[in-house]
Amino acid sequence: MNIVLFGAPGAGKGTQSALLVERMRMKQISTGDLFRAHVKGQTPLGVKAKSYMDAGQLVPDEIVISMVEEVLEDQQDQNFILDGFPRTVPQAEALESMLKRKGLQIGRALFLEVPMSELMGRLTGRRVCSSCGATYHVTAKPPKAKGICDLCGGILEQRKDDHEEVIQSRLDAYTRSTAPLKSYFADRGMLREVQGMGETEAVYARLTQAMK
Ligand code: ADP
Ligand code: ZN
Repeated sequence: MNIVLFGAPGAGKGTQSALLVERMRMKQISTGDLFRAHVKGQTPLGVKAKSYMDAGQLVPDEIVISMVEEVLEDQQDQNFILDGFPRTVPQAEALESMLKRKGLQIGRALFLEVPMSELMGRLTGRRVCSSCGATYHVTAKPPKAKGICDLCGGILEQRKDDHEEVIQSRLDAYTRSTAPLKSYFADRGMLREVQGMGETEAVYARLTQAMK
């Protein structure tokens, strides 16, 4: 089954996607990761996206949509996770018509529910391995050696947009533009809300249950 995974920044989309990839052999399509790769590679797309990302704003719909369209173009297997896309109603509408053209379908839109009061702490404490992308948290999931990835020995970094003022903008953008997707997917019978608080494994169990 193909799924959309959505929720506020810090809700745990990336963590849960990684588990789905590992255990269910799904393929993760994360627009955030794709943009970060473009920024790192200084591609024309990366140059366009960077200023929005650094400010915690959404990249304009037409840029995101054409990027996703390209990725879906050579999408063979029917077992993918859209992580971080769609994030606005126009993106959802564009997705619907893209999928129709390609004969693909989304089975479920899974919403990871986490209270706003929890998110700031999750994001300011997040650290990411600069080599393998594994994520940590300074108090909730610290690495064995400070600043070093347990898995690969890489250096842990703080994402540029994981600083307080930028996080606030991301949360505002979420409330304004992404939260309305809940009713969009509910209207189509695709929405399942999954409690995102608690142990990673407990969230994963609820998530996979909601995919059945
Ligand atoms: P988070 O969900 O934690 O905010 P992501 O890694 O998914 O982080 O995205 C990082 C940034 O990339 C966003 O703040 C935004 O600027 C941009 N971005 C990613 N996906 C989208 C999207 N679907 N629409 C617009 N901008 C996006
Ligand atoms: Zn690592």
